[in-house]
Amino acid sequence: MAAERRPIEVAPARDVPLNAAERRASLNVNKTAGRMETLMTDRPPAPDASLLDDLVAANRVLYAKGIVDGLGHISVRHDKDPSMYLLAAERAPALVTRDDIAVYDLDSNPLTLKERRGYIERYIHGEIYKARPDVMSVIHCHTPSLVTFCVCQVPLKPLYHMSGFLGAGVGRFEARETFGMTDMLISSPAMGRELAKSLGKRAVVLMRGHGATMAGASIKHAVFRAIYAALNATMQMDAMRLGDVTYLSDEEATKATATNDKVVDRSWALWKAEAAGEI
Ligand code: MN
Repeated sequence: MAAERRPIEVAPARDVPLNAAERRASLNVNKTAGRMETLMTDRPPAPDASLLDDLVAANRVLYAKGIVDGLGHISVRHDKDPSMYLLAAERAPALVTRDDIAVYDLDSNPLTLKERRGYIERYIHGEIYKARPDVMSVIHCHTPSLVTFCVCQVPLKPLYHMSGFLGAGVGRFEARETFGMTDMLISSPAMGRELAKSLGKRAVVLMRGHGATMAGASIKHAVFRAIYAALNATMQMDAMRLGDVTYLSDEEATKATATNDKVVDRSWALWKAEAAGEI
C-alpha cells in the first residue's frame, strides 16, 4: 500500500507582517523541515520495501489470528544492518502502516520516528537480537491460551507436528526472581536481558502473569510459531481433560519442525491474503 505523506506547505513570499496564526504555522513548517534535515543527515539504511510490507502484514495477521489485541508487537531484524531492528512506534498492531515502522538500535533507542512514543516493552526485541544472532523476528503477545500455561507448572509440549518447535521445551521467565514486585512489563534493558536469558536457545518463552515471546528465523517463521504455540496450548488443555496425552517425541518434533520450516510459505500467503480481506 502506498504510504500517505502530507506535503510540507511553504508560505508564499510576502512583504506584509504575518499575523499570530500565520506565525505559528510558519514555525511549525520550520520545525518539520528541521526534523527532515536531521533524518536526512543521520539516517539508517532504508530497509527493503518487501520487508516493510511483510512486517505490516504480520501485524494484521497476528491480530486476525487472535494472537495480539490492542497490545503486543512484532519486529524484524534490519535486512541492511544486523545491529538494527524494525518495530512499529506505539500503535495497535492491526492499525500499523508502513509510516509507523521505526528503526531501532539493539539498545532499543529509536533511530527514526524519534518524535513518536515507542512501545514500553521494545527491550524484549533488542535484547533477544543481541543474544541470538540466528533470530530475525520476535513476537511478544498476551494470548489467553498461552497465559494459562504461564501461571501453571504444567509444561507446554508439542501435541502434533505443527508445533514441533515446542519439542525443545519452552523457557520460563519469572520477573519476581530478579526484579521483585513490578507491573510485569519488560520496561528496561536489564529486564530484556533476563528475558533473553530465559528464552535461551528455544523458540518460545512463557512469562509468568504476563504473556509469551517467540523468536524465529524470519517474520513468517515467527508468526507460524505464535499461531501454533497458541493453538497447541488450547488443544493441550482439551487433551489433558480427556486423559493421558501422547506428545511428539524429541525426534518427531525435530523432524516435523524441519519439514514445516520448508513449507511455511504456503500458510504465510494464505494468512496475508486473509488479513488483507482478499479471501
Ligand atoms: Mn507485554
